[in-house]
Amino acid sequence: MQAAVLTEHEEPLEIQEVPEPEPDPDGAVVDVEACGVCRSDWHAWKGHGEWAGDAVPEGQTLGHEPAGTVTAVGENVERIEVGDRVVVPFSLGDGTCHQCRTGHSNVCPNGLALGFEPDAQGAFAEQVAVPEADYNLVELPEFLSPRDAAALGCRYMTAYNALVNRGLVTGGDWVAVHGCGGVGLSAVQLADALGARVIAVDVDEDALERATDLGAELTVNPEEERVVKAIKIATDGGVDVSIDALGIAETCRNSVRCLAIRGDHVQVGLTTDEERGEVSLPTDRIAHMELSVHGSRGMPQTDYENLFELIEATELDPGALVTRELSLSDVSDRLAAMDDYSTAGVEVVTDF
Ligand SMILES: [Zn+2]
Ligand SMILES: [Zn+2]
Repeated sequence: MQAAVLTEHEEPLEIQEVPEPEPDPDGAVVDVEACGVCRSDWHAWKGHGEWAGDAVPEGQTLGHEPAGTVTAVGENVERIEVGDRVVVPFSLGDGTCHQCRTGHSNVCPNGLALGFEPDAQGAFAEQVAVPEADYNLVELPEFLSPRDAAALGCRYMTAYNALVNRGLVTGGDWVAVHGCGGVGLSAVQLADALGARVIAVDVDEDALERATDLGAELTVNPEEERVVKAIKIATDGGVDVSIDALGIAETCRNSVRCLAIRGDHVQVGLTTDEERGEVSLPTDRIAHMELSVHGSRGMPQTDYENLFELIEATELDPGALVTRELSLSDVSDRLAAMDDYSTAGVEVVTDF
């Protein structure tokens, strides 16, 4: 089968003929029908993370936002069957540790990150192998196509986890979203559906327009306004929850600084070569105002049911975030386009 392989950081991915995966006894193989291209792929492609010893190794097949149909299951698999339509969460749990057993598979210490490590080759490929299939695979409801569901394996569910599980957003809250790429726009749409009042922040006017279409009540462009001041004035004191969906020093600090007293900052975006994993924060303000700083990574597998219920009940359309359909050979160009933040919304490979 064909796969897009990272042979050298920052060089175009190589489309290679690789062996079709076999399911291990507890695993399954999914025929990939759609796979989103995410900023996390860009981080991997750039070789980011070497400062923490976790740069993605060369030789890796990238791609971690797949949806498709199960074509094979291992002998121990009981719940998942051949022919099931599924989405694959990128954060794969072992299903047995304390975190997995208490509903936190997204931070499983024995887990695998799909598409980022040799034992979990990714889904920029015709097929992808998934370990612990009964635990990790999520059946798609009828109303979601693989194309529309591609981001549900990463950015969409990540936004849900950040808002619901970490930020504890409820109706009427003010929510600021800093960075309106795929995960930011997902957060805008979901926060609006949760009844929050949403402020979208981005330097790109098209992204802000899209955010308005998806439910943002107010937009702020940092190239035209001072972000913190604009938000404080609009909300009469600051937002209840703020999400840094990008991960550069400016968005991270703005996110903390635009909070109201006792507000919650949620860090979703990962840093670049500039920050190397660390950003200084206004600690005195965090103490004085009793601000909370949370991290958020993916979403526990057990929350998909709630996410699907929200989508159905509020008639959300995750497919509205998809701006472009790609073939496997387009991925390199789209990763390169992320260098200057010129991609928009969610771009999905649908032609393998
Ligand atoms: Zn992703
Ligand atoms: Zn676990």
